[in-house]
Amino acid sequence: MPLNHKNQNNVNPPTITHKAGWVLIDPWHIMRDGFVKVESGKIVDVGQGRGGSSSEQMIDHGPGVLMPCLVNAHTHLELSALKNLTNTNSGFIAWVQSLIEKKNQCSEKNLLAGFFAGIKDMVDSGSIVVGDIAGLELSRQPFLESNVSGVRFREYLGADFNLSFDCEKIKSDKTISLAGHAPHTTSSDLLVKLKSVTTPYCLPFSLHLAESIDEVEFLTSGKGAWADFLDQRKIDTSAIKLTGAGPVKYADQLGLLDDKTLAVHLVFAKKQDFQILSEKKVNVCLCPRSNMLLHKQLPDVPLMLKSGLKLCLGTDSLASNDSLSLFDEMKFLSQSFSGISAKDVIAMATINGAAALGFKDQFGRLTPGRMAKMIYLPVNADNANSIRESVVAGDFSGKIRSIY
Ligand SMILES: [Zn+2]
Repeated sequence: MPLNHKNQNNVNPPTITHKAGWVLIDPWHIMRDGFVKVESGKIVDVGQGRGGSSSEQMIDHGPGVLMPCLVNAHTHLELSALKNLTNTNSGFIAWVQSLIEKKNQCSEKNLLAGFFAGIKDMVDSGSIVVGDIAGLELSRQPFLESNVSGVRFREYLGADFNLSFDCEKIKSDKTISLAGHAPHTTSSDLLVKLKSVTTPYCLPFSLHLAESIDEVEFLTSGKGAWADFLDQRKIDTSAIKLTGAGPVKYADQLGLLDDKTLAVHLVFAKKQDFQILSEKKVNVCLCPRSNMLLHKQLPDVPLMLKSGLKLCLGTDSLASNDSLSLFDEMKFLSQSFSGISAKDVIAMATINGAAALGFKDQFGRLTPGRMAKMIYLPVNADNANSIRESVVAGDFSGKIRSIY
């Protein structure tokens, strides 16, 4: 059950102090017997002990840990209705075909119902900030009216320029911005145009990059299964100006890479690609469960970290994943790469995701001035290290309490 700071009259109560056995301020700082004092939805104080005065409202959540809410930096909420409907057993292109087919068969009403169910799933599993990729206009208003914060990336593919590109910071915790689908689906000029619209606003721009081996083959040679697929669908590819470069280098050649770009996947990227991404300070989002399901392969996360990349986490959509829980994503990632520290994994799911979406001063850690979107986990642990390990392993009994 989410705990909302607003009362029934939609008026923020003056002050609430949230107490817990542990407060995880950020991956590196954990306090025993801590409190977080909140006024009008913002954190005003954090410390140890009781915190507030006796006249203020106090909520003692219990012996577990209070921490920043998670940031699901890449999902497609409008595809939630396609859960269990796509073909995930016959390779990437078969999955794409089934996705197109099933989405076309789904009514707008059902897509919207899936969108709302997806938001509920996310919030219930602790992600209250999201980077949502949207291909349809119908979820714009529901996103703005929803209880999640984040960026709605309106996504484009193909080569059509006769469109109005809507890009705006709506309020301090909600942004409307743009995404290009991917280099092998979106014309070179359209990708450049989309990036050029977001840049003057300093807003994030998102792009799937180096997700599949078919994408790499198409970009480097113009041939292969993806070229055949586009041929079959009679899609003109002449507007994709191939240079022989792989996805990351190609995106760099187009001028798409900088610290406002969120590059998603990078399963088939290599060391020299990581160097380019690191030099350009590109934010990188990993969706490991989706990658394993669709490509039977994961990105080289240890080498990414060694290359200095700032990594965040996303679930991708329910069309290629079985949940929108970032706890499930953290657990899968840490089981797949046992050498990655719990601190790094928590940073990916909180502070790095917030920064990648343009909210480094609003979310990601529990410090004064930031927004009080938090979660309480009934973790049973007796020191800071075991708290972190329990968070990453999803090792707690009882429900996650979302506070916003
Ligand atoms: Zn995606």
